[in-house]
Amino acid sequence: MRYISTRGRAPALSFDEAMLTGLARDGGLYVPEDVPALSRDDIAALAGLSYEEAAFRVMRPFVGDAFTDAEFGDIIARAYAGFGHDARAPMVQLGPNHFLLELFHGPTLAFKDFAMQLIGQLFEAELTRRGERVTIVGATSGDTGSAAIEAFRGLDAVDVFILFPEGRVSDVQRRQMTTPVEANVHALAVKGDFDDCQAAVKDMFADFPFRDEVRLAAVNSINWARVLAQVVYYFTAAVSLGAPQRGVSFTVPTGNFGDVFAGYIARRMGLPIERLIVATNRNDILHRCLETGEYRTAGVSPTISPSMDIQVSSNFERALFDVYDRDGRAVAQLMDELKAAGGFAVSQGALGRLRDIFGSGRASEDETRATITRAASRMGETLCPHTAVGVKVAEEQGIGATPMVTLATAHPAKFPDAVEAATGTRPPLPDRMADLFERPERVTSVTKDLHSIEAIIRERIQT
Ligand SMILES: *Cc1c(COP(=O)(O)O)cnc(C)c1O
Repeated sequence: MRYISTRGRAPALSFDEAMLTGLARDGGLYVPEDVPALSRDDIAALAGLSYEEAAFRVMRPFVGDAFTDAEFGDIIARAYAGFGHDARAPMVQLGPNHFLLELFHGPTLAFKDFAMQLIGQLFEAELTRRGERVTIVGATSGDTGSAAIEAFRGLDAVDVFILFPEGRVSDVQRRQMTTPVEANVHALAVKGDFDDCQAAVKDMFADFPFRDEVRLAAVNSINWARVLAQVVYYFTAAVSLGAPQRGVSFTVPTGNFGDVFAGYIARRMGLPIERLIVATNRNDILHRCLETGEYRTAGVSPTISPSMDIQVSSNFERALFDVYDRDGRAVAQLMDELKAAGGFAVSQGALGRLRDIFGSGRASEDETRATITRAASRMGETLCPHTAVGVKVAEEQGIGATPMVTLATAHPAKFPDAVEAATGTRPPLPDRMADLFERPERVTSVTKDLHSIEAIIRERIQT
């Protein structure tokens, strides 16, 4: 199994190389050269398996000979052992033919744990084999950083440094980053905003001597292994609703297009997904693009669903690559236009192909709040604001004979203020982390100056 760049000018890599590399050297994203298919019988045989067994069968063809069956099975087992629900991704019913896929039972209460926990174990296994260590550095506005810390804490081959804007993440998010006790975890509170954190990380990657010295690595949402991990729950959900005999649709609260793109891969593998609905908050570049064919940035506007507050959706490039017949040069041209002019027009042919698969909708802040209120009183469910965006958009599409599954991307207790404002009740943290607010915090306060951050990293890494 080889991986190629969406911009067509970087070397093809194996699974483990693509995973450790992240972004391709031509600026593109890695995608599998061929998407392996599961037959109807293969899909039917997933029924009744544990999440881990299904994960093994769905992901195995993508991994090639990077790991043996036994190694890969162990990696999956370790990745999901810390989840707070035996089903890992259970479903509940919201209304007639409308289901909620709960992806928030991982250690940081958001769906990103599915990918991060797996990537932590994949990195550890591959680096140990190679006898190497890396330094993971990331900037976060909240969710990704805590998921990364949870995934890498205590691993031998990795140090993890997460930069977050001091005073600008929620208390739950901050404590998830500052309370792990393992020596390889380093939470850095930056005096500045999220853009300052992101700029510092970008500058570190551009500082080649430093980058090589500490062997910097990234695990951002464009990493192919993260997308792959998310393909699994589309299979488990669809099979439990009757696939492959019955088709299923999904509505996905979307920011960077990683999660919904995983649904697209599941469909290409042969899972009978009828529609994939992209649900956005008022940061709606994807919804506008699917409606008009114009992909154009419009600045970020803060919402109560902050993990979807994005200016551009980086993983969308992977979908464009396919609908442009895998023409890397055409994709590179669109991305150049995006950089130079803030947007581009999708060709009619490509737009038609996107619309054959993807629908879209947008929820305003008022609609999101009203959906949280209504779900609590009419559906017996407390929704996080991201999930509420999905539920609102799913309902607006009209739910007919095909079952609709909306992805619940975070636990309501991660966003207690918004949920309390809409329902009158403050959602409690699950028992297994009820003492989060009693645990001691460990954090280093830093200025946004690149050299002082680099000095701290040099001093702290275990060589
Ligand atoms: C990251 C995130 C999203 C958006 O997912 P993408 O893969 O970026 O589209 C939605 N909801 C929550 C809670 C998230 O953390």
